[in-house]
Amino acid sequence: MSEAFDLIVIGAGSGGVRAARLAATYGARVAIVEEYRVGGTCVIRGCVPKKLFVYASRFSDMFESAGSFGWTVDAKFDWPTLVANKDKEIARLEAAYVAALEKPGVGVIRDRAILTGRNRVELVKSGRVLEAKTILLATGGHPYIPDVPGKELGITSNEAFHLEKLPHSILIEGGGYVAVEFATVFAGLGVDTTIVYRGDCVLRGFDADLRQGVSVGLQERGIRLIYETNVRGLRKSGDDIVVSFGDEVDAPFGAVMFATGRNANVSGYGLDVAGVELTSGGHIAVDEYSRTSNPSIYAVGDVTGRSQLTPVAIREGAAFAETAFNNNPVAVDHSMIGTAVFSEPEVASIGLTEAEATTHGDIDVYLTRFRPMINTLSTKSERMMLKLVTLANGGRVLGCHILGPSAAEMIQLVAIPIGMGATKADFDRAMAMHPTAGEELVTFRAPTYTYRSGRKQI
Ligand code: NDP
Repeated sequence: MSEAFDLIVIGAGSGGVRAARLAATYGARVAIVEEYRVGGTCVIRGCVPKKLFVYASRFSDMFESAGSFGWTVDAKFDWPTLVANKDKEIARLEAAYVAALEKPGVGVIRDRAILTGRNRVELVKSGRVLEAKTILLATGGHPYIPDVPGKELGITSNEAFHLEKLPHSILIEGGGYVAVEFATVFAGLGVDTTIVYRGDCVLRGFDADLRQGVSVGLQERGIRLIYETNVRGLRKSGDDIVVSFGDEVDAPFGAVMFATGRNANVSGYGLDVAGVELTSGGHIAVDEYSRTSNPSIYAVGDVTGRSQLTPVAIREGAAFAETAFNNNPVAVDHSMIGTAVFSEPEVASIGLTEAEATTHGDIDVYLTRFRPMINTLSTKSERMMLKLVTLANGGRVLGCHILGPSAAEMIQLVAIPIGMGATKADFDRAMAMHPTAGEELVTFRAPTYTYRSGRKQI
């Protein structure tokens, strides 16, 4: 005997939870099935615990500067305290998510769901069979680990949140968000940290000046960067892990972390049985309304591979609920998405990089680098960077890139005018707030350099 719903959501992460709650408020009878913890990667083992770790790691920079401001600090760090307090906060958030689902009447089912037909789902643990006119797949992703000998000796971000003790040293493979963020977390907490990356500079895809700036900033914090190199194998040696980099170069580390990207959770869900097709990259293929190749099944979030960012999954979940349960088709615009890397120094961006913008006609670049005020009393010489890329002669702002304290907060706010099509003149009209770092964005007088017919003019 099957149980009937209007909507079954598989996966209670950011996208699934948003969709389920909104559909329920529109009167749908909704069940959400989750095999792990409610909240998904972001809440349970991603953005939220990561940011708490980032806060913890930033104290070391502050303690370093504290003396210049007259403080004497005798600081000691205790990893188990941080992990326990983080776990407490994550448990609180998970309970809040469950309550927010239950309030509009969503049924929360702790089980694994497998599609056994075009509109049917079977639950592995309980054996219950559920049917719904509409099914939403929001199954997320998982860390990808390169297939090298001894790979099981390494950890991923999943395990990094639950280490019993901090290693004396760590090697992190990868040059993306997770690698850079965790490198600064571990280094800030006193771990001897090395990044090994197959490319020539971390954060591929970001503006070149940001990449260069963060690379310098990481090294100033004592993080070793090894470029154009891969991990070839891992083996145990006493308490350490010896990493082979090929060409007979081996080195021991207390821990090894793979931050080599994420794959979509698409296996073992019966997608083929339900007629749900994948893209060549292994994500669920969807149209602009998040509909899969089976018109009664939709997919949102990381599993669709459009953008692996929490706010995008939430927006996609909301758009799905509007489309399928409020008779209001909404397509999410993925064209202007701001993003931040919570490293030290912090990195944030929106719009086109300088290199991308040069392919859009004549452009002006406004660039400033300066010592943030907090560093002026200390011995720290690190500079922050703000860059505006505009169409030529005061035209539309195409991109904004910031490196340094509060970069993410600033980009979040400039995302509004830039998304509205603001020009350089619109930025100039805003009165500066002094003393702030953000005032630089509205006080640029002349371009630092320009590109005319694709050629840089200084
Ligand atoms: P990313 O895609 O950002 O980075 C993966 C890195 O691993 C890249 O540097 C890539 O190299 C490298 N890599 C991939 N395959 C291999 C391989 N076989 N051998 C060696 N290196 C390899 O993934 P992350 O795991 O860092 O993060 C996943 C996603 O999660 C991000 O893309 C982001 O969307 C999201 N995220 C967002 C955060 C935020 O908003 N602050 C924080 C953390 C994650 P190459 O550059 O050459 O491809």
